[in-house]
This record gives sequence, C-alpha cells and structure tokens, in this order.
Amino acid sequence: MLVSQRIRAIKPSPTLAINAKAVSMRQAGVDVISFGVGEPDFDTPKHIRDEAVRAMEEGFTRYTAVGGIPELKDAIIEKFRRDNNLSYERDEVMVSCGGKHVLYNLAQALLNPGDEVIIPAPYWVSYPPIVVLAGADPVIVGTGEADDFKLSPESLETAITPRTRLLILNSPSNPTGSVYTESQIEALADVILKYDIWVVSDEIYEKLIFDDRPFWSIAQVSEEVKSKTFVINGLSKTYAMTGWRIGYAAGAREIIAGMTKIQSQSTSNPNSIAQKAAVAALNGPQDSIQAMLRAFDQRRKYLLERLNGITGVHCNVPGGAFYAFPDFSYYFNTKMEGTTIKNSTDLCEYLLTEAHVALVPGIAFGDDNFVRFSYATGLETIKEGLDRIEDALGKLV
Ligand SMILES: *Cc1c(COP(=O)(O)O)cnc(C)c1O
Repeated sequence: MLVSQRIRAIKPSPTLAINAKAVSMRQAGVDVISFGVGEPDFDTPKHIRDEAVRAMEEGFTRYTAVGGIPELKDAIIEKFRRDNNLSYERDEVMVSCGGKHVLYNLAQALLNPGDEVIIPAPYWVSYPPIVVLAGADPVIVGTGEADDFKLSPESLETAITPRTRLLILNSPSNPTGSVYTESQIEALADVILKYDIWVVSDEIYEKLIFDDRPFWSIAQVSEEVKSKTFVINGLSKTYAMTGWRIGYAAGAREIIAGMTKIQSQSTSNPNSIAQKAAVAALNGPQDSIQAMLRAFDQRRKYLLERLNGITGVHCNVPGGAFYAFPDFSYYFNTKMEGTTIKNSTDLCEYLLTEAHVALVPGIAFGDDNFVRFSYATGLETIKEGLDRIEDALGKLV
C-alpha cells in the first residue's frame, strides 16, 4: 500500500463524486438534470468582479499577510458588528481559502488525537473527515425529522464524555435547511458552558433564510459563550463566489494564531485578488443577496409542493440554505427488473440511470432514509426533474 494511513481513513467528498458522475454522463451526451450541486447557480455580482479586475490591473498580485489583508479583516469585523452585534479584534479573525479550509485549519489547531467532536446528523459531508484528519474522533448524534433535524440539549448532554472537546453546529443546515431559533441556541449554549467544551458555528448560510426568520449565532448568547465559540463563515454561498475561495473564522486569538501558523506552512495567504473582491462584497451593496433569496424561495416552495405530492414521500419545510431533504424510504425494498432498491445510494443510482436525475443519497450526510435535493437550479429544470423522478418511481414494484 502506497498511501498513508491518514488517506486510507477518509473518502473523497460524496457530493463532489455524484456531481462528477453527472458531468461525465453529460459529456457522453446524456441530458442529465442535476439536483446535486452545492453552489448557487448565479454569477458573482458585477461590482465584486470589477474590484477583482481593478486589483489585478493595479498589480495586487503578490503574497499578502498569511491570515488575510488588514482591509479584509476590517471588513469582516465590521460585518460581525453590523449583522451580528459581535465585536472582534484583528487578531481574533483570519481568512482562509474557503469555509472548508477554515474548518480544516481549526481542527488542526484545536484538536488532539483522542479528542471527541460531536457532530449532529444529518451533517455536512466534510465534518467527519476533517475531524479524522486531525486525529480526533467524530461522535455522530442523530436527530429526527420530527425535531426538524435539530440537536436537543438532552441528546447533546448524553453524548458528552470527558474526552469531548468540540461541538459542530450548522444553522441554516446543509443538507436539511433547518434553522435554530434563539431559544434552541440558548439551550445548547447552557450545556456547552456546563461542560466547558468548544463550539464551531458554521454560519455559511446565514444570509439565506426564508420567511423573515431571524438568524441567531450562538456567539451572540453571551460574552462567555462567545469566548468558547468559533464562528465560521465565507463568501461562497452569500455572494455566489464558490470558485474564489474566501472563508473566514472568528474566535479565541490563541487558536486563530495557531490556525494562521498552519496556513503559513501549507497554503500561505488566500488568493490576493479574491481578497480584494471580498472586501468589495462585504462593504458594498447587499441587494444581490435579496434577489438570489427571492429566486431560491420561489423554487423552494415549488419543490416542496411537488415532493410532498409524491406517494410515500415527506419533506420538512427547509427554513434556509438551498436544499430540501425528503424521506424517500417508502421506496426501499421495491424492485426494478429484479434489482431491489435497498437504501438511499441504490435509489440515487437508480434515478441517475433510469431518469437521468442526479441527487445525493442521504447516507452521505449520515441518514440513509433521505435524499438531498439542491434547488440551485432553474424552476423549469426543477419541474422537468420532478416529472422524471415521478415517472421512474412509478416503474418500481
Ligand atoms: C459550502 C459549505 C461550506 C464552505 O464552503 P467554501 O466554499 O469552502 O467556503 C461550509 N459549510 C457548509 C455547511 C457548506 O455547505
């Protein structure tokens, strides 16, 4: 065996894998409809792109400070003040190559081998491997559809052991779209303080919340809770900037310094041009977010109605992000030409081959009864995709 034990302990991102398969089918001429992608289908707003062009033309093309240019750190600090009423100093924030990279750096800077990290399921696919790569142990705590996939303070408390170091929270959630309320967040914060553990709050979908629901960060609960919290956020989802690779973290300065050290010995600074563009995104007009949110909301409502109209399928109302997470287990143990569909992977495999529709099996997020739909795709495509799914499900016996 050539590769390291570390590599053998993890798998590549299943969401990216499904997407790759859909892309290769498309290249072979198959008309695939994809609900698989985890990124907005909008262009990065023009004023942000213009700023990148200006940065390039002005020669802002060299190495920058490892943890981000001061101008961007200040824009991030201002964002926290403006949107979350949180105050941070420059040495309490850092910029990395996307939110995923922030989380990776944080795991490397905070975790020791043997530490346990509590991850509520359904979870974002990258949490467990990032924890494993830091030598720590993911502890998966299941939540139910009946609780809107939210972690209760009781199940958090039950999962805590003397080895517990960290809890990872994600609201709004990928894949369920669940949004924690203020009182739900406060109840979890009480447990965190009681056992003195750290919490990561992945707030990448903060701006993508429907029905005027308020957003609550656990860091807002109190100064004490804030001191145990690392907020992770980024530009990818809010400003349709997935390819630019800018994410940021805020939290305890000692750990932020550790994360910067790791970054200094791995990637160095995030892309200089993208950092300038990020300043324009955070400080500039925010109306593009509202336009994007309106489009997502229209699709969400349509998709939900269609999903709940399929025999045996049930889907909770996602309060944020751009995913729906319906239960498709009704179709398990059905057959197509002698082949039995046993789980979410079989079902997605079937729908890709039979209906040419790409979806991500729930097992990738830690719950096999479900399937994830991303509605970061046009309304017409959503309609056609659902028609195809209904046809294909109708052939199962
Ligand atoms: C997309 C996503 C991220 C980070 O994306 P980046 O492109 O790396 O900034 C982080 N957390 C969740 C839950 C996501 O869906």
